[in-house]
Amino acid sequence: MKLLDKSTMPVLGQGTWGMGENPASEEKEIKALRHGINNGLYLIDTAEMYGNGGAELVVGQAIKDFNRKDLYIISKVYPHNAGRNNIFTACENSLDRLGTDYLDMYLLHWRGSIPLQETVECMEELVKLGKIKGWGVSNFDTDDMKELWQIKDGQNCLLNQVLYHLGSRGIEFDLLPWMKENKVATMAYCPIAQGGRLRRGLLDNPAVNEVAKKHSISQTQVLLAFVLNQENLIAIPKASSINHIDENIATLNVKLDSEDIALLNEHYPAPNHKTFLDIV
Ligand code: NDP
Repeated sequence: MKLLDKSTMPVLGQGTWGMGENPASEEKEIKALRHGINNGLYLIDTAEMYGNGGAELVVGQAIKDFNRKDLYIISKVYPHNAGRNNIFTACENSLDRLGTDYLDMYLLHWRGSIPLQETVECMEELVKLGKIKGWGVSNFDTDDMKELWQIKDGQNCLLNQVLYHLGSRGIEFDLLPWMKENKVATMAYCPIAQGGRLRRGLLDNPAVNEVAKKHSISQTQVLLAFVLNQENLIAIPKASSINHIDENIATLNVKLDSEDIALLNEHYPAPNHKTFLDIV
């Protein structure tokens, strides 16, 4: 079975978008990431794009005193670098910034103009070279996944990272079922809607408030619990403060019951028709 093994792949990891952009915040970001790792969040998601390489440098600082094999590091290649001319250098540059000699997972950040077949061939070569353990994609909708499945070695894709939160449930209609059926893991980015910023009113919603009150948790934790309570989904909230990290870890123990889900569904219904994939 190709589905990522949840005994080795945690359901909660750490995002890094926005890190490494401001030298004054870097120490805090490094501390937060280290705190997360020390408390079980050993999966870190980054990208060459974030902070123009700055996020990978921050991650490199955060992980340098840990045993590499205890970590799960994901980075992403820009679409314009995802072809034979650039991907090998782009990957090497990411490895240098991260201070490591391999990535656990390398993702195509989103689809660009380079043919998928070429990207897949390069990803397979990177695996053979030992530079990456596996590869996946990001921001792929159902049709993109179906196309990938027709390409030679396309079915070696291990993961699709897509936007998903309580206020944006479009993938439940056809992408999530397709991913489950084809045993590909789904990684939810923006699981807390960027602290509520992506959907006006989400954190003040009466249903979210009621569930928060019932479980004595924050509204943000309700959003994260909504994602974590689902099978085959990995959430990668970004948090650059120790308090936020602790709160996110505590959410692993929150179990939403059918009453909670029914209430949330009333306000944010599951989709009953196809919508295009939401992206940021
Ligand atoms: P998130 O939904 O993870 O929200 C991050 C925001 O929420 C930050 O402002 C953070 O604040 C705040 N926050 C974190 N924890 C809490 C908490 N417990 N209570 C209140 N606020 C909290 O958005 P992101 O856009 O960061 O998405 C997560 C990750 O997914 C990214 O960092 C990135 O790694 C990945 N991503 C991938 C994309 C892709 O195209 N593949 C696109 C977008 C994101 P603070 O930092 O102050 O703690």
